Amino acid sequence: MVNALVAAAGEGTPSQIVAGSIMVPGTVDNDNARVIQVPNLPSLTNFPLQSVLEERLGWPVLLENDANAAAVGEMWQGAARGYRDVISVTLGTGVGGGVILDGKLWRGAHGSAGEIGHATVDPSSGLKCKCGNIGCLELFASATAIVRMTREGLSRFPDSELKSEELTAARVYEAGRRGDELALSVFKKFGTYLAIGLASLINVIDPEIIVIAGGVVNGWDLFADHMQQEVNERAVRATALQVKIAAAQCGDNAGLLGATRLAFVRQDAQNSQEL
Ligand SMILES: [Zn+2]
Repeated sequence: MVNALVAAAGEGTPSQIVAGSIMVPGTVDNDNARVIQVPNLPSLTNFPLQSVLEERLGWPVLLENDANAAAVGEMWQGAARGYRDVISVTLGTGVGGGVILDGKLWRGAHGSAGEIGHATVDPSSGLKCKCGNIGCLELFASATAIVRMTREGLSRFPDSELKSEELTAARVYEAGRRGDELALSVFKKFGTYLAIGLASLINVIDPEIIVIAGGVVNGWDLFADHMQQEVNERAVRATALQVKIAAAQCGDNAGLLGATRLAFVRQDAQNSQEL
């Protein structure tokens, strides 16, 4: 795929390339340049992706977790520009997170810092997560969760327009904008659980800003007020009132921008913004 892209970019491109950067949706061991665990791509487990790519491509290659890269992208070009203590939470099929402390990406001692999606928010739900735990945040605050919670609520809202729809998170959002009661209740529940996760993050990290990313951000007006209110009630109040919670600005490009930025920074040791 890389070779096809380089060929498409035209003559002269190969000599201008200084590095490659690849993001994976899972845990990465940065020291050993190895993928540790990717629940959705099990064949990559323990695979030395970086060295294999470096050998094939002939450039230095950087390996990073996708949510970490998205956090860097939002700090470089998006909603977190100018901030030094940043948490980014990406709500997609699952829920990913990235933590930047004092301008530096915080990967943790074992490469899995920021895995907010697998924080327990409802142990009594009985819902089992892919990670093996019960009641993880991503079972309540992802696009997948919106569809499931809508389906579960259909019997309680017999007049909902969603009854006859093939469900997607985008359709639930559109129905909510038209005032559909079921859609509104789903986004409220979504906001409550997201706030439970965010309040814990605020209490532990005390960031300047939390950036919420992913396709679900399109439904911002349906859950943001409720989420903020719940955060104010659940986190240490004086802190909660000061932490900014904002929608992401880079869209699907956040990870790409972050990947690029991380490669630039590694290439340029003189750069003062060490990540
Ligand atoms: Zn989980």
